[in-house]
Amino acid sequence: MESISKRVNSLSPSATVAMNQKSRDLQAKGINVINLSVGEPDFFTPDHIKDAAKKAIDDNFSFYPPVPGFPDLLKAVTEKFKRENNLEYTTQQIIVSSGAKHSLVNAIICLVDPGDEVIIPAPYWVSYLEQVKLCEGTPVVIEAKHEANFKITPKQLEEAITPKTKALLLCSPSNPSGSVYSRAELRALADVLAKHPRIMVISDEIYEHINFIGGHETIAQFADMKERTVVINGVSKAYAMTGYRIGYMAGPAWLAKACDKLQGQMTTGATTIAQKAAVAALTGDQSCVSEMSKAFKRRKELVVKMVREIPDVQVYDPDGAFYVFPKVNAYYGKSFNGTVINTSNDLCLYLLEHAHIAMVPGEAFGDPDCVRISFATADEKLVEAMKRMKDALIALK
Ligand code: PMP
Ligand code: GLU
Repeated sequence: MESISKRVNSLSPSATVAMNQKSRDLQAKGINVINLSVGEPDFFTPDHIKDAAKKAIDDNFSFYPPVPGFPDLLKAVTEKFKRENNLEYTTQQIIVSSGAKHSLVNAIICLVDPGDEVIIPAPYWVSYLEQVKLCEGTPVVIEAKHEANFKITPKQLEEAITPKTKALLLCSPSNPSGSVYSRAELRALADVLAKHPRIMVISDEIYEHINFIGGHETIAQFADMKERTVVINGVSKAYAMTGYRIGYMAGPAWLAKACDKLQGQMTTGATTIAQKAAVAALTGDQSCVSEMSKAFKRRKELVVKMVREIPDVQVYDPDGAFYVFPKVNAYYGKSFNGTVINTSNDLCLYLLEHAHIAMVPGEAFGDPDCVRISFATADEKLVEAMKRMKDALIALK
């Protein structure tokens, strides 16, 4: 008899991971699927980072690492915060984990008790809601619509706060919308939070370096917010290191201590070889980061232009990250060979089966009017995929 816990039974599978797998399965059958589902850079990890990983093997970094991370990596992370964000942390305020996804769930488990509310602006990244649910917390979703450039207003935040609110989960640059909060917008949200000193902010800044409008702004920069903010970041996106699985959190020492205790019981420290590679990423030549970011900007322009050529599709031109999140609901209710497309799920399945392009349904991100397209792939593939998308949508009657 199956007897999965209620907690895990109630989780939805990750739609990004699932769509990526579906696309890989079709590719394995020899079908030419263009995979725009999963968000990961198509670039190879830069050589100096790979060399550091190889050296770590040769130097016998094969023993358990300290739970919060090797001291040189913790130091490199504090230096990164000082250099790039003008934020001072001690190494006791940093915990390195097996990817930013792991850093997030650590922070959420350490903060959220059953019944606690966590405010999550939609569209949100697929795992936020599920991680809160795993802790038996209650996600409180605020809708930031296409018309509002996918950003929440201070008024919306104020209205969502209740005595049970434990945290606000912010993601800027945002996955999936690509919206980026300005300093003034973050300050306006911080002004609301100033009236509610018990609320923490979990600030997911994994797309920090993929920003098309200028410098990155973090809510932790405000003196009154620093001790109330957990910054989540990692090396996956900026350094094309998704498979290395290194993320980190920075926040108040009491929370870092709790994450250390939790991680000590769950996974121990992150992989030694990957940690050494992350040191090289954070302390080495940073030109690879801006080069990749330049390529993402070019691809963004290409994709936005091509999506705009599809009739009845609206698209917000993203300020950061590597996704566009076009509104495609004008096609709901139309059909192909008798099959009616009613939802973004239906549309993504249709596009996968008939046009062989993989995208993620907006439903998974809390906005069923949209689909998410990752443009972290080669320009030629993007051009071909957008042509296929246009033809497939026009074929719906
Ligand atoms: N946050 C967001 C918004 C993401 O898109 C991702 C994607 N992977 C993560 C966190 C997790 O990143 P990592 O690969 O470091 O676990
Ligand atoms: N963050 C990426 C995405 O949204 C990777 C997949 C995942 O970790 O969920 O596609």
